[in-house]
Amino acid sequence: MVTTMTNCKNCRSHLPDLLLDDAYATTHPEYKEHLEACASCRAELAELRSTFALLDEWKAPDISPYFDSRLQARLREAAAAPPEGFWERTRSFLLFSTGRQLRPALAGALAFAMILGGGSAFVGLHDFNPQQPQTSATVNDLKLMDNNVQAEQQLNQLLDDSSSADDAAVPTT
Ligand SMILES: [Zn+2]
Repeated sequence: MVTTMTNCKNCRSHLPDLLLDDAYATTHPEYKEHLEACASCRAELAELRSTFALLDEWKAPDISPYFDSRLQARLREAAAAPPEGFWERTRSFLLFSTGRQLRPALAGALAFAMILGGGSAFVGLHDFNPQQPQTSATVNDLKLMDNNVQAEQQLNQLLDDSSSADDAAVPTT
């Protein structure tokens, strides 16, 4: 009984190998033997197999044809943008840095700012919405086209879904 238990555990840890590598069963006949003898391991392998078959059927949504050009445009803009000012850099450092060693300093700075009067004058730290980056007309246009493509895809998907649902509902006579 103990050997069967260990065999099952062993066998199950190698099920992915058996599933993905056709030659594995021939090079490791002990698992093949065990699978022939053990119904529960066989069922487990069958389940894995059907899951993988389902994954093969699943089609990932197409990537937007405008993705690359939009990314390139954004990169060009970021490269061409003027460097951020000292306060802007300090502010983003304080807002986004998660460094442990900085926290006491940040707490001290905040306390100091509060003493100064509400802290509202402290480099705009009260404003926790970082400025939206400026986007050019090119990027906006590409974004619009991207949205159109996405809407079209979703519409097609909806139409597909509803038509297949209709097919299922209509009784075959
Ligand atoms: Zn087993």
